[in-house]
Amino acid sequence: KSLKSYNFKKELAQLPMDIHTMFQQVGQLGDTMGNDVFIVGGFVRDFLLGEENQDLDFVVEGDGIAFAQALNEIIQGRLTIHEKFGTATIQLPDKRTLDVVTARREYYEYPAAMPQVEKSSIWSDLFRRDFTINAMAIQLNKSKFGQLIDYFGGIQDLEDKNIRVLYNLSFVEDPTRIFRAIRFSTRLNFNIEDETKTFIHEAIKDGMLDRLSAERLREEILNTILEKNIQENILSLDRFKVLEIIHPKLQASQANVEKLQTLKETINYFRTYESRPDEIEVVLIVLMHLLSDLNEHDLVESLNKLIANKGNYSKIKETLENRKIIYEQLKQEDLNSYDLYQLLNQFSLESIIYYYNDCDHSYVKHYLLFYVLKLKEIHVEISGEDLIKLGIKPGPIFRIVLERVLEEKVKGNIYRREEEIQFAQQLYRSLKGEKNA
Ligand code: ATP
Repeated sequence: KSLKSYNFKKELAQLPMDIHTMFQQVGQLGDTMGNDVFIVGGFVRDFLLGEENQDLDFVVEGDGIAFAQALNEIIQGRLTIHEKFGTATIQLPDKRTLDVVTARREYYEYPAAMPQVEKSSIWSDLFRRDFTINAMAIQLNKSKFGQLIDYFGGIQDLEDKNIRVLYNLSFVEDPTRIFRAIRFSTRLNFNIEDETKTFIHEAIKDGMLDRLSAERLREEILNTILEKNIQENILSLDRFKVLEIIHPKLQASQANVEKLQTLKETINYFRTYESRPDEIEVVLIVLMHLLSDLNEHDLVESLNKLIANKGNYSKIKETLENRKIIYEQLKQEDLNSYDLYQLLNQFSLESIIYYYNDCDHSYVKHYLLFYVLKLKEIHVEISGEDLIKLGIKPGPIFRIVLERVLEEKVKGNIYRREEEIQFAQQLYRSLKGEKNA
């Protein structure tokens, strides 16, 4: 099909009013300033897929910064200018951001005796992008409003559900695109096109990922794992031998992948009982599963590569190291609630969820759930000050009394603050009596 047939004027009119109006304003401003202007990248991809996307990236053939300044006069957001890159960002009151980029005409050296080829600015801008489906633009100037610019076959790849790079050395030029390819393929349920797959394998074999800083590699891997379908991403990272880069022994074993399949449901289940459901750190639970087959030495080596935060590091390490003991204890039929409390109290909610999802034993599951529902939030309300008021002298006795108060609370023998005080008083008296006797 010729490019001319791709005009999306009608479809653009069906976007939310504010976006459609903004596109028209941007186009008119382009006309006034004598610039061709385009909406590009992720927005265009998602628009063609019928998906919403709030990230608006505009490309201006001309002075992008002057354009952004003039645009901001109209829409009254907060303008930030990055002079060096010829880019600007406008923050809208509703938290959305608009990015404005200056497209520059670039010259491409072709091999041998061929002359330098000059390409238009929008071509050059799109050619720098990662995949064909992300390398399309829609023109916004009035006379060409809605015209799709697709130099690299993006619309065909959208139809065929393909992730395809624009040129052979794309992954060598920017190895983070390897992770982007995996992410887009699971997010959109697209295939990584065969040749592109080969380029990824070659880039990894040639050590291109070693060129990323440890921090960048960690960030890319973790972001990739968390994208939508966790087990798909992990399988993909395994297939491209990225897991091996973290540690030679690390792999997506059948058992782990199966556990990861139920994880989402398990997390949602626990979320319904949590007062702060958004604070569950999914990535930690996923890593616990992923790393669970490693011995202690290999686990430490893997964690060194994957986790920078000391707290998270030990959360994962301790959860896995204690796994066997915890399961053994929780398989007992007659565990009392205070023993249960003491056993699990040192672990984070992420650890509990991991144990729950990992272990199939019904007692274990039962106890874990009971702990989260009934025991986890129990705290002693009284403090040292209350004990002083009772005439108890500060010292090791404080800890003993408070610990016993906690035990009675966990066992469900006392509930309210007054009961805690009463119990503390009685306990103190009897302890003192014992001592005096
Ligand atoms: P989403 O924001 O939904 O993850 P997106 O495509 O908008 O998807 P961004 O990371 O916001 O992703 O990137 C915006 C656009 O910038 C992409 O559509 C792509 O054209 C380009 N881009 C981003 N990262 C790269 C990269 N590493 N190499 C080349 N082009 C890139």
